[in-house]
Amino acid sequence: MNAVYVTLHCPYCGESFDSPADPGGGELQCYIEDCAVCCRPIAVRLRLDEAGEATARTRRDDDA
Ligand SMILES: [Zn+2]
Repeated sequence: MNAVYVTLHCPYCGESFDSPADPGGGELQCYIEDCAVCCRPIAVRLRLDEAGEATARTRRDDDA
């Protein structure tokens, strides 16, 4: 199974970084990923389409 990477935009520091997504985790996944730059917890909502393309929305964990 190919690795899928998704670009996450950090809502805290504004930086972007690539993060590996779990292609077997279902078409809609919600999880917390620590920012690779500032290490704060990002609430990620990841969607995988039928072609295996991943798109993600990010928001601060503390305004859920
Ligand atoms: Zn950050």
